[in-house]
Amino acid sequence: MKAIALISGGLDSMLAAKIMQGQGIEVIGLHCSTPFDTCAKKMNGDTSQFMKFVGESLGIPVIVTHLGKEFLDIVKNPRHGYGSHVNPCIDCRIFMLGKAHELMLSHQANFIITGEVANQRDMSQHKPTLRMIEKRAGLLGLIVRPLSAKILPETIPEQKNWIQRDNLFNFNGRNRRPQIELANTLGIHNYSQPAGGCLLTDVNNARKIRDLIEHNLFNLEEVALMRTGRHFRLSPFARLIVGRDQRENKVLEDFVREGDYLFTSPDDTAGPCALGRGEFDGSIVEQACKITCYYCDKNDKMELVIKYKKVPEDCFKEVKVFSVLPEDLKKIRI
Ligand code: SF4
Repeated sequence: MKAIALISGGLDSMLAAKIMQGQGIEVIGLHCSTPFDTCAKKMNGDTSQFMKFVGESLGIPVIVTHLGKEFLDIVKNPRHGYGSHVNPCIDCRIFMLGKAHELMLSHQANFIITGEVANQRDMSQHKPTLRMIEKRAGLLGLIVRPLSAKILPETIPEQKNWIQRDNLFNFNGRNRRPQIELANTLGIHNYSQPAGGCLLTDVNNARKIRDLIEHNLFNLEEVALMRTGRHFRLSPFARLIVGRDQRENKVLEDFVREGDYLFTSPDDTAGPCALGRGEFDGSIVEQACKITCYYCDKNDKMELVIKYKKVPEDCFKEVKVFSVLPEDLKKIRI
């Protein structure tokens, strides 16, 4: 028997795959990488590399599918609403299970495995919701959740004796100790911490995502840019993104496109690179310079000459400004 396991990179999905392997099932992993995925943070965001590592540690192949605009549409208009932030977990699960279903058919696999634990999360893992997700994905009875199987209805693979229910688990709720103990028993030691994998569940990123949606800017490029720097809304039509370190300054420079503005510190002063995007008039340019000044060294009660240009102009112009006040900065932080 063969099964497709949804692999997030976290412990639960790894355990689920391992348990099924232990019952003699040939497991093929599927990782659905969304634009908000952070599971590969430790590998410089290289999801394929990270999944290769996860697959090798489980001894299974892991196929990575990158979800793009189609996933943004789900985030923008989730049929089943959001969780605590802008995480449309129910719609997301239905969508990912749909991808797993496609793979199941193309690989002539028999069922799907997930690492879901009943009642572990507010929204998508309540028992009736798990059932509803299964129906919506067209997979009723074909999703095995080995970690909670004993407290969930019997699945087709159990009824047909492809797998043994007695050797599955009854984990329930948020307590993670049973999973950690099981990981030790099964010899799984390298795994990501839970809930670290999706920017949609993070309060700071949720603000940025809502801002992009409200301003009709919710596209893949802006979502990628969202991961870098401090973001400020200067007007309904203008934003400034300020790098937090050298690496981010470089990333921002790579994002620059025609019509953007670049702001930098004076040559003799350490400071950030800032990317201005949108419609800038004289007063907004001055505001952007004051914000850039705030993050420069030596900005205390001291005017600095901030350099800026509109891309693709060759030469920087200069504006002498005092730093913005911290309380004013707070008001415009996205
Ligand atoms: S946390 Fe993110 S990736 Fe996970 S189900 Fe929710 S929306 Fe999807």
